[in-house]
Amino acid sequence: MSESDAVEGLRQVRESIRRSASDYDRDPASITLVAVSKTFPAEAIEPVLAAGQRVFGENYVQEAKAKWPALRERYPDAELHMIGPLQSNKAREAVELFDAIHTLDRPSLAEALAKEIAKQGRTPRLLVQVNTGEEPQKGGVIPSEVDAFLEACRTEYGLTVEGLMCIPPAEHPPSPHFALLNTIAKRNGLTMLSMGMSADFDAAIQLGATHVRVGSAIFGTRTKA
Ligand SMILES: *Cc1c(COP(=O)(O)O)cnc(C)c1O
Repeated sequence: MSESDAVEGLRQVRESIRRSASDYDRDPASITLVAVSKTFPAEAIEPVLAAGQRVFGENYVQEAKAKWPALRERYPDAELHMIGPLQSNKAREAVELFDAIHTLDRPSLAEALAKEIAKQGRTPRLLVQVNTGEEPQKGGVIPSEVDAFLEACRTEYGLTVEGLMCIPPAEHPPSPHFALLNTIAKRNGLTMLSMGMSADFDAAIQLGATHVRVGSAIFGTRTKA
């Protein structure tokens, strides 16, 4: 995909989000597009920044560290979200680099993030990843354990969690997973719902997504993970 294709992809995704918002009687301003730029080089991201997109998602700390400091010099108001699995030993770099972390999913990571947040005085917004499909290979807290984990984040680690994130199983219809995430968020008074990707953000918006994470519909097909 060429650079102008990504700008066209961005335009189309924005238009689709507006249409979904209108279909489901939601304020389009309540839905944030997180443009997922993993695996794409800075040269592919720059035109999308130039076209006005400001919120981006990355999956790997090292990759984000290599690409984003230079881009942020030119676009200081760019916002970077961590949406991939996070190792506790990367907590320092993650807190330095990211404005939001969508993948908090275990006590050891909560502890590591709390320590770095206190040390650095930076407070990325935090979301707990929920493994709604209870898939063994996938990160995230299983639904029956989310309430207790949120309570532990608050009382044991002093963390403010603002939302939930999920990645439904690839082979299932996503809507029941989005609905479940919404139910757990409401029950816990959480306002951020990170759900919906290129193939299913319409259904996610119908079910209350505040953050849709869209990669390939903007940047094109990824050739690596
Ligand atoms: C890669 C990725 C996305 C974007 O997926 P697309 O299908 O390319 O839109 C969204 N969320 C997470 C967690 C991802 O890893």
